[in-house]
Amino acid sequence: MTNTSNPIVLVGAGIGGLFAGLCLQRKNTDFLILEKADKLADVGAGIQIGANGARLIHELGLTEEFEKYALAPLYGLMMDGISGRQICTYPLSAFAQEEHSFPHYQILRSDLQRILVDALQARAPEKLHLAAEVLDIKQEQGFVQLKTRDGRIFQGKAVVGCDGIHSTVRKQCFDETDPKFTNCIAWRALVPTSELEMDYPMVPRIWIGPGRHLVQYPVSSGKSINLVACVESSRAQHERWQGSSSVEELNQSFSTGCTAVQDLVSKADQALSWGLYERPVLESWTKGCITLLGDAAHAMLPSMAQGAVMAMEDAYQLAESIAALSDLENALKDYESKRFKRCRKTQVVARKNMAFFHQKGALNKVSAKALNLAGAQSEKLIGRRYGWLYGYEGVT
Ligand SMILES: Cc1cc2nc3c(=O)[nH]c(=O)nc-3n(C[C@H](O)[C@H](O)[C@H](O)COP(=O)(O)OP(=O)(O)OC[C@H]3O[C@@H](n4cnc5c(N)ncnc54)[C@H](O)[C@@H]3O)c2cc1C
Repeated sequence: MTNTSNPIVLVGAGIGGLFAGLCLQRKNTDFLILEKADKLADVGAGIQIGANGARLIHELGLTEEFEKYALAPLYGLMMDGISGRQICTYPLSAFAQEEHSFPHYQILRSDLQRILVDALQARAPEKLHLAAEVLDIKQEQGFVQLKTRDGRIFQGKAVVGCDGIHSTVRKQCFDETDPKFTNCIAWRALVPTSELEMDYPMVPRIWIGPGRHLVQYPVSSGKSINLVACVESSRAQHERWQGSSSVEELNQSFSTGCTAVQDLVSKADQALSWGLYERPVLESWTKGCITLLGDAAHAMLPSMAQGAVMAMEDAYQLAESIAALSDLENALKDYESKRFKRCRKTQVVARKNMAFFHQKGALNKVSAKALNLAGAQSEKLIGRRYGWLYGYEGVT
């Protein structure tokens, strides 16, 4: 037996697991994290953290550190990816600050991960165990036992599967089915800002169009522009980053796009591709003292930029429920019941947003025209539509 105390065992040290560790530490709840990788290294790609995530970063006292690396652009431009014309402006930090009191951040994933790991090491040293891939979980009366690939046994009073879309905890304890390919793949690339020919490259843009869209926003103090390109494809691809060979395919996918879009993708000398998968939100993701969090519970399309933020909200609620209720099983049920509807709704909205970006169906085309006609009001229209998401104060 490796550990002698009775902690909450978090399986996985992605954004969800790291955030959960920090939230539990804040509530003086004992925990440990088991991560299968032998070192934590994230890809050099960007991630957006909406105002609902910025609020939680503030609650954890990480805003100052975060703002050394994150940018908070005031607004973005929605563009027609084929004609190159502007459709409307969409709300980012100007609206978010005014309506929700927090900004909308854009940051490199590796910076976000480093901030979380450093805070964890400083506040709760020796809680993170690397090279600890969990293979087996057994729930006994009053405790849970986990076995790792190298034969170590860990014990705790509860297990939280924060182990991502291919979650072992989900498979072993809840649902044996595999995640579903959404017929969409995503490419990620970083382009040096200085190489771009467009005006105001630092202003984030979403280029929408039939069957594909491209998101651009600045990271690394504006030195690079992060690209996320989503393209429909019937060819299933692994849900993991794949090597640089996809640059030609990326260029090919946007060959019918406007000049600005073609210029953007042509400046990527390396692109990583990723098959987009979804997990249906389970009717229940808690059994006794085992529960799920983040992508393991409710993986969603990236078209609302909310998967990681939902994992952060889950983490915060989990720690709140455990601290508030003395019976652990009740606490885990309470956590799930407070997260279920919101995560399911966000997953559905992400799917609808993908259809809008890809201009599927007459209604979506009409909506784009309506936003164009709304002119300066479009930011408020979009912002208010998603007030329930970005202005959420439920967990705090
Ligand atoms: C193209 C793209 C763009 C995105 N953009 C955004 C965005 O802008 N904003 C946003 O909020 N979200 C975004 N997302 C979603 C976001 O990346 C995910 O929702 C988020 O990373 C999920 O975090 P997680 O901690 O649940 O899982 P993961 O990040 O997948 O972490 C799981 C961890 O568990 C470990 N693990 C797995 N199995 C085991 C095991 N058996 N034992 C121990 N450890 C294990 C893994 O090694 C990993 O470290 C995007 C996703 C994609 C694909």
